[in-house]
Amino acid sequence: MIWVIGTTNPNKFSEIVHILNSLPVQFMSISNWNVIEPEEIGTSLLENAQIKSRYYHRMTKQLCIADDTGLFVEALNGEPGIYAARYAGENSTYKENRVKLIERLKPYPQPWRAYFETVISITWKDGEWHGSGIAKGRIIPEERGSLGFGYDPIFIPDGWNKTFAEMSELEKNSISHRYLALIKILDAVSKNRIPIY
Ligand code: IMP
Repeated sequence: MIWVIGTTNPNKFSEIVHILNSLPVQFMSISNWNVIEPEEIGTSLLENAQIKSRYYHRMTKQLCIADDTGLFVEALNGEPGIYAARYAGENSTYKENRVKLIERLKPYPQPWRAYFETVISITWKDGEWHGSGIAKGRIIPEERGSLGFGYDPIFIPDGWNKTFAEMSELEKNSISHRYLALIKILDAVSKNRIPIY
């Protein structure tokens, strides 16, 4: 069976395939189909993930996996939330988004509690599945580390003294929100809730 991964980001594609590697299915990137990304007009991570997996399934007729991630900061009532990618405006850079977040947090006492959440949606011919993963931690006022992407240089997960951007890929990928959401797919497959044949 073919499983289509609904991302055009090659790093995300390899991370997902790496974790799901033990499944007897053939992974293909949505880049192999000539489809444009749907607009993420949902009001939650789940809605946005479903918009993508349903749309890609319609386009490819294969089982499709899509994900959506947000960063939820307690002192800011959950900002930037599902708008993490465009926090400082449409087409904003990762750096601009981090700077805006720190500026907004400055009036508040530390620790600045926050969590990342990833929701994964899977759509196939006659069924659907979704699951989520959360990484809790705190935002720090100065950037540390140069690995990873997005808010990684200012996020320290609970139980660690380094930011996601100071962790090796192996370390981050063994505790991240995306990893915790992805391993639920393996469990769901073992319980026959997602088809592999
Ligand atoms: P996406 O839904 O995976 O594209 O994530 C939306 C936005 O959340 C990204 O543009 C990043 O700013 C942020 N983000 C998602 N995952 C991570 C992560 O693992 N570390 C840091 N930032 C992330």
